[in-house]
Amino acid sequence: MRLLILCLLIYLGYLVFKKLVLPGQAPTRTPEKEGLAMVDDVMVKDPFCKTYFAKKQGIKSVIDGQTHYFCSSTCRDKYLEAKKNSKQ
Ligand SMILES: [Zn+2]
Repeated sequence: MRLLILCLLIYLGYLVFKKLVLPGQAPTRTPEKEGLAMVDDVMVKDPFCKTYFAKKQGIKSVIDGQTHYFCSSTCRDKYLEAKKNSKQ
């Protein structure tokens, strides 16, 4: 009989615990994600070959603390090479 009461107490404790924990588990939506999708198609200029292309298709590269976007990795390499040569 004692065991049955103990089981009942554990069950009640479980119910209270469940009630306390569940409200905190509600998933929170992030509105920032929707905002990011809108600035996806910004046109940027390749500093090497001077062509315009969509930012998301370009290759992002940080050179001397400045962010540059290149249409291809070839342009990026050539730009870096030209920059290196101009310094010497
Ligand atoms: Zn290019």
